[in-house]
Amino acid sequence: MKNNKVSFITLGCSKNTVEAESVIGLFLKEGYEISSDLSKTDIIIIHTCSFIQDAQAESHYQIQQAGLLKQKNKDLKIYVSGCLAQLLQEKMQKDYPFIDGYVGTGNFDKIVKLIKKNKSFADTSCAGGVNTFKSRVLSTNLPSTYIKIAEGCNHRCSYCIIPNLRGNFVSRTIKSVTDEAKALADAGIQELNVIAQDTTSYGIDIYGKLSLAKLLKELAKIKQLKWIRLLYAYPSTITKELLETIYETENICNYIDIPIQHISKSVLKNMKRPVNTRKIIEDIKKDFPNITLRTSLITGFPNETEKDFKELLSFIKQNYFEHIGIFGYSDQKLAQSYKLKNKISQQIIEKRVQLLASAQFKNVIKNNKEKIGETFEVLPESVSGNKISCRAYFQAPEIDNTIIVNKSKKIELGKFTEITVKDYKDYDLIAK
Ligand code: SF4
Repeated sequence: MKNNKVSFITLGCSKNTVEAESVIGLFLKEGYEISSDLSKTDIIIIHTCSFIQDAQAESHYQIQQAGLLKQKNKDLKIYVSGCLAQLLQEKMQKDYPFIDGYVGTGNFDKIVKLIKKNKSFADTSCAGGVNTFKSRVLSTNLPSTYIKIAEGCNHRCSYCIIPNLRGNFVSRTIKSVTDEAKALADAGIQELNVIAQDTTSYGIDIYGKLSLAKLLKELAKIKQLKWIRLLYAYPSTITKELLETIYETENICNYIDIPIQHISKSVLKNMKRPVNTRKIIEDIKKDFPNITLRTSLITGFPNETEKDFKELLSFIKQNYFEHIGIFGYSDQKLAQSYKLKNKISQQIIEKRVQLLASAQFKNVIKNNKEKIGETFEVLPESVSGNKISCRAYFQAPEIDNTIIVNKSKKIELGKFTEITVKDYKDYDLIAK
């Protein structure tokens, strides 16, 4: 086939990676070749992200770079997909006339058919669809990946435009998810990270009740899976059954990522998020004290007072969370919070981010010290100089700290092994 080399630039979160892997499989099926050499490729697909300003800026930068390549190679085709294509398609058509086509978030899997027609196109009509994953081709050699169990979101957090971009919540069936998980396990995957915009609402739309615990129990039956990990849990739909399933099932990691964003009731109310978040977290830690929690926070939300911030800071100092992603609020024109008055100055936002980061750093040091002398099964993932970076069950890929060990013949990338923590350096643990 002529002009059949396709290159992908995938930006943003793990959900975008999973989507791109599925679409790569569709291209391969149709006889295309996947190329990582942008200077010699025929087609570039930029799968964009628009979560925060920085993500949007990166997407624009990559589009502009592709435009420069097109000046040298007039036959090059450039397509833009994903969240930013959904959000700004009209503006991009004006700003970047060199783009040959757009596909939105709900119909990314149609891109192959559209490209085959070899015409310019814009198909951003149906956000909210659940893509099929039958064709997925893994983009990693490691035995670790993500599985997306739903698309879209029924919540309306006031700072977030994801429901505008991805539509309402749509679950995949248990069969569809477990079939994909079995295929991934057969392909060598041993760690499965369960993702969606909101994982804990799983099943409510198709089974009429919260069904994540049931889904996890089914996934846990796949014996090759050593670690199943839950990310993006929405606080108010975490059930006792779910927590017990996580606690009691051997191959489900004793770990949950629960993005809480804030703890002050008035800020949570303005964010349109559960105001009882504090009680939810305290109850989880009371009943399941050994569970590793990860969260993300937004500080500097409009109307966040000094008192609100101090409340958040003192909550973080209680060390409920081993891992935290800390973000300063940034305005998005389409978000409801854009219209709120009493915006916080950038200077104060940055100071609050810093204060939260320093408080969490103290927690990390304390937690790291407590792990000295303990032995963990780890997954060695990457090499830098004579050091190998590994992860244990309490560390999610890409976002959490790691365990560093000296290179040795006994430690092979991608092969689970046991190591003993001897020390720590800043965020990371050091092992033998
Ligand atoms: S839960 Fe809130 S922040 Fe998360 S995707 Fe839904 S609306 Fe956005």
